[in-house]
Amino acid sequence: MLKNIIKGLALSLVFSPFVMANSVCNQDRVTLQVLGSGGPELDDGRASSSYLIWLDGKARALVDLGSGANVNFGQANARLEDISAIMLTHLHVDHSADLPAFVKGAFFSDREDDLTILGPEGNALMPSTTQFVSRLFGNKGAYAYLSNYLEPEQRSAFKLKTKDIALGLKAVSHFPVGKDLILSTIPVHHGPIAAVAWRVDIAGCAITFSGDMNNQYQTLETLALNSDILVMHNAVPETASGVATHLHMTPSQIGRIAQKAKVKKLVISHRMNRTLGKEKVTTQQTEQSYKGPIFFANDLDKFRP
Ligand SMILES: [Zn+2]
Repeated sequence: MLKNIIKGLALSLVFSPFVMANSVCNQDRVTLQVLGSGGPELDDGRASSSYLIWLDGKARALVDLGSGANVNFGQANARLEDISAIMLTHLHVDHSADLPAFVKGAFFSDREDDLTILGPEGNALMPSTTQFVSRLFGNKGAYAYLSNYLEPEQRSAFKLKTKDIALGLKAVSHFPVGKDLILSTIPVHHGPIAAVAWRVDIAGCAITFSGDMNNQYQTLETLALNSDILVMHNAVPETASGVATHLHMTPSQIGRIAQKAKVKKLVISHRMNRTLGKEKVTTQQTEQSYKGPIFFANDLDKFRP
């Protein structure tokens, strides 16, 4: 599997976007599970942003690793040995803080395949995903005691590999992993933060994750086109203004994007005190544009495509 992953990542693929061999979604084989439905607040009673994709009863891919993700990964009975890739939307704490917990936890697993972490390249404010991992696990990193997972000369059961997603071109890139998984990504606007959205095509089903964003780049609708599930982050209410709307989408923006992308199911997540308890009005504002089914995510919820 490792060879396939590396080969897949080395290919900067040139094929028609989102066309899988079998484009009929095999709904019985795929599950989206929410590991973290909250944001960075301490008092929301939720794990921070994290999602798990299952195929045929095996945990295959992770999107974001906010704090609490490692606990809910265990609660979900997932095994790190089965994970083909970790995708990060951006490196804010509420999306990445549990990466060290997963790397340390791997010591107690039977994992032998290298673990690939894909995330945005750096910008003026944020390190690249490769720098982030190196600053955590490199020889001079904060967790240098785990540097055997990164440094080639040290022995370990597997290595961490990273892939930085370019932000300059606002176009979709594709990364096939093995035979049954295609990861696709596009840059999104999250204020001054380097950020991307992710799409996972698996068993003919497509699940897209907005990450944190406002819609200034208008890129998500391209990535999410015809997705079976679109997970969107609702960190602010319709009445938000200023910095909050520079960073995040309002419910009416969420509805417009979901409608343009023609997604079959919308899952609203990254729920915060600013939006919790406002589900009824959030639904109404979203439904002004989007007419499909809308769900509000809670930790450990499972959704079929
Ligand atoms: Zn966030």
